[in-house]
This record gives sequence, structure tokens and C-alpha cells, in this order.
Amino acid sequence: PLVLVGTATCGRAAGALGILSVFKEEVDKNQLDVEIREVGCMGHCYAEPLVVIAKPGFPTLCYGPVDEGTAKRIVSDYLLGDDPCYDFALFALDPNDEFPTYEDFPRGVIEKKIILADCGLIDPEDIDHYIARDGYAALTGVLEKKPSYVIEEIKESKLRGRGGAGFPTGLKWERCYLEKDFPKYVICNADEGDPGAFMDRAILESNPHQLIEGLIIAGYAVQAAKGYIYVRAEYPLAVSRLRVALAQARERGLLGNNILGSDFSFEIDIFQGSGAFVCGEETALIASIEGCAGVPRYRPPYPATCGLFGKPTVINNVKTLSYIPHIMRQGAAWFKSIGTENSPGTAVFALAGKVVGTGLVEVPMGTTIRELIYDVGNGIKDEKQFKAVQIGGPSGGCLPGSALDLPIDFDSLQEAGAMMGSGGLVVLDEDDCMVEIARFFLDFTQKESCGKCTFCRLGTKQMLAILTEITEGKGKPEDIELLQELAEDVKMGSLCSLGKTAPNPILTTLRYFRDEYEAHIQEGR
Ligand code: SF4
Repeated sequence: PLVLVGTATCGRAAGALGILSVFKEEVDKNQLDVEIREVGCMGHCYAEPLVVIAKPGFPTLCYGPVDEGTAKRIVSDYLLGDDPCYDFALFALDPNDEFPTYEDFPRGVIEKKIILADCGLIDPEDIDHYIARDGYAALTGVLEKKPSYVIEEIKESKLRGRGGAGFPTGLKWERCYLEKDFPKYVICNADEGDPGAFMDRAILESNPHQLIEGLIIAGYAVQAAKGYIYVRAEYPLAVSRLRVALAQARERGLLGNNILGSDFSFEIDIFQGSGAFVCGEETALIASIEGCAGVPRYRPPYPATCGLFGKPTVINNVKTLSYIPHIMRQGAAWFKSIGTENSPGTAVFALAGKVVGTGLVEVPMGTTIRELIYDVGNGIKDEKQFKAVQIGGPSGGCLPGSALDLPIDFDSLQEAGAMMGSGGLVVLDEDDCMVEIARFFLDFTQKESCGKCTFCRLGTKQMLAILTEITEGKGKPEDIELLQELAEDVKMGSLCSLGKTAPNPILTTLRYFRDEYEAHIQEGR
């Protein structure tokens, strides 16, 4: 039998390390022939700590939340006996006649897992687990092809960057490939800093080799000499699992000189960011690696032509790079068969806030917000009324009930005034004040503004002051127009995406929830 305990940060926060110890002690005490493995996040964070038990001749079951008592019962009744403890199992992972499988639930029907498929099922610190699931097969195939073939395939797949803006990945790679200035660099942007977002962290903690394989392929495609993973220092578990994975890859000849006997040599370093949200902006991130203050630079030139240390550089987000091995293995046509025409593939969201099924989800692009919240996320907590969804983090926007049937893709969200962002999705209910929500996000972006340009530095401060007055019941009727005007100016006049998108929560709440602003001002509350 095999016991998997989810010990990603979400599991640990719910006590997974204690549960792991209970299993180890009970298995030792009873001298059972059981393998116990730590795995990452399976996405069902609402039911952490999660445990999976695979016992020959029985359904493979996922249990959660598991406490000390249930852990002991699983050992005594299931591992020592023949009772699978169905009363606290969540679902089965394989087809069987006894217990519903994941696919029997609406969430299982809607979800389409590509980059999350192995998260929570493989040991992130064991390269053989990844290899057993076809890991590094894409890299082996790629090294037999020309870099231009790889770029054409990624262009053909229409993969769009999952860091926020949705720029076509293949075009970015091609621009860098065509530059004849060496050495070149590829960087993975793992500086996830949005409030309520934890997609990148979960992927790094659960399947680091998938990202490493994607980064090596990106390096080969543009003929880079070196890759960096820029990860926030606040993610210590992700950093340590990445270090283990990189060492294993090096040991297997997947990094270093002449990778797998080819004439391609490539190394990857980890660079830990110091917690500045603006370093998620690619030119600020580059400045930070160069040892300068993490402040955005004017573009053009774009990093693809003049990036790290003035050399051509590709920067992609964790999720974007994680798709690469899958596309190279299964082909551009396969990838395009999922999602919508202009936004192929899947979208990964961190579902948070007032939703029952908080956690990590991966759905085909084009899934509606309603399906995401009600079918995948199981609806609103405590049977309250849905009010809005904050999509895309502080740079995104708040969408109301009338947007529930909006398909999730880059273009539809932008038209509605929000944006995909990196995948944070916070659900709000009838008790939430939308002016307060706008103030919360603006307070965050105002504090994170690097201060380089006036519109962002002073504009966010001024908007925050007005919002604070309004929420304290001291707002004036003319404040609404002033806020609207300021928000549009800051959007237009700021240098980088932090400033350009900071007004989005204000603009969307003014567009969809203006009555709440008016009520605050009229009623002086
Ligand atoms: Fe800095 Fe804001 Fe200007 Fe970006 S928009 S460069 S964060 S001041």
C-alpha cells in the first residue's frame, strides 16, 4: 500500500506535517509494509490536510480533512483491516464499483487538468516520479529538432502568456531567437505577489520538474546559455523543492554541459526576490537580478531584444513554462483543441474568498464564471448571495452578478473591464462593501508603487485618500467624478503595468457598483 500526504504550504497550514508523523508512527508501530510519500497540492485546499491511500484490490481513495483520529482509523481499519473508511473519503481516484470518483462530481466534469494533473500525486522531490509520468520526454524529443521547429510549434499552439497580459509566447521566443547577440537568457517569473493568489507557489511546490523542463526547452528554443527562476523569498518550501529538483536534473545530465549528449549546454540558477510586488514587472525583475533597485525601465527596448545585462532575454511566468513540455509532447493541435480559438488551453485559478470549495482549479478557457464558482467551487459559503468576483488580483477588476455567464478568456475579461491577471479569483458575497474592496486593493498597490512616475506615485495616494474618506462617511458628492478622472489619468499616464492597472478595482466598482459609492456619501457612513 501507498500513503500520500499533501505537504504543500496549504496542507502544512492545516496541520499536514502532524498527520504525516501520525502515519509514520502508526505504520512503524504496527510494522506495516507501507510506503509513505509527501506530495504537493491536489487543489482541494478546502479539505486539507489531504491524504490518498492506494491499496491493491481496493479503490484508491482521497480523504480530507484528515485529523489525528481519522489518520489512526485509516491505519487500523484500512491498512490493517479491510474497511476503506468511506465515511470520510472525498472521492476515488480510479474507476470502481464502490465509491464515486472525482469525475462523478461537477468539478471533476468541468476541470481539465494539464499543468495541475500530477500535482498532489507525485513526490516533487523524486525525479523518477516525474519521469514515470513522461517527464523530460519532451526535452529528449526537442533536442533532436532544430530550435526553429520548437518556436514554430509554440507559435502554432497559440499559447498566450499566463502572467497577465496574454502576449503570444511563440512570438516572444521568436523575437529573442532572431537576435544574434549572445549570451541570451531565459527567466521564469515566479514572483507571485497578488493578494489571494497561490497558483505559482502550488505548482512549484508540487511539480517543480515540469517547470524546469519547460525552462530548459525555452532556453534551447532561443539558444540561451542560462536560465533564472526568480522566486519570492517568502516561498521557502518552493525554493527548497526547486533546489532539490535542480540538483536531481543536474545529476541526470538534464542540466549543465552537453545536455543528454547534445551540443546544447544550459544552467539554471534560483534568484530569490525580496518581496517587492513591482518586481513581477519584467523590467523591474531584470533590474533586481542585475543587483539594481527593482524599478521598472522604459520600453522599448523590450527584454526579448535587450534584457538581462543588456542581452536578449525571454521572461515567462511559471504557468506558461509549465505548459511547454505538454505542448511539445502532445502537439500544438492537441493544445488548440482545448479552450477557445483566441485563448487556447486551460486557465488556472486560485479560488479564494467566500466560496465553499477554495483551492486550485484548472478549467478550459471559455468556462463561465458561474460554472467556476457554482459547479467547480460548490457555490457561496453559508448560503449567502453572490455579489461580485475580484478577478486578476489588484490589477484585475470586480465583476458583478450580471457577468456570471461571461466566458473566462483573455479578451472577454478585458472587455468587461477586468483581466485574467495571473489567476487570482476572490469571491465576494452580500456582506462585502465594494468601496471597501476597492480601497483594500488600492491600499496594496499604493504601498507597492515604486515611486518612479508621478501618476502612479501621487495618483494612487490621492485615490486612496478619497476612497478612505468615502468609506469613513466623509465623502463629498464630487468625489465620484474626481475618482473616475484620476483613475483614468493614472491608467493612461503610468509607466508600468502596476500603475496602469492599479485603478482597475476602482473603475470596475464605479462601473458596476456606483450605488454603493453614492450610498456611502449620501448616508455619511
Ligand atoms: Fe513605479 Fe508605479 Fe511608475 Fe510602475 S507605474 S514605474 S510601479 S511608479
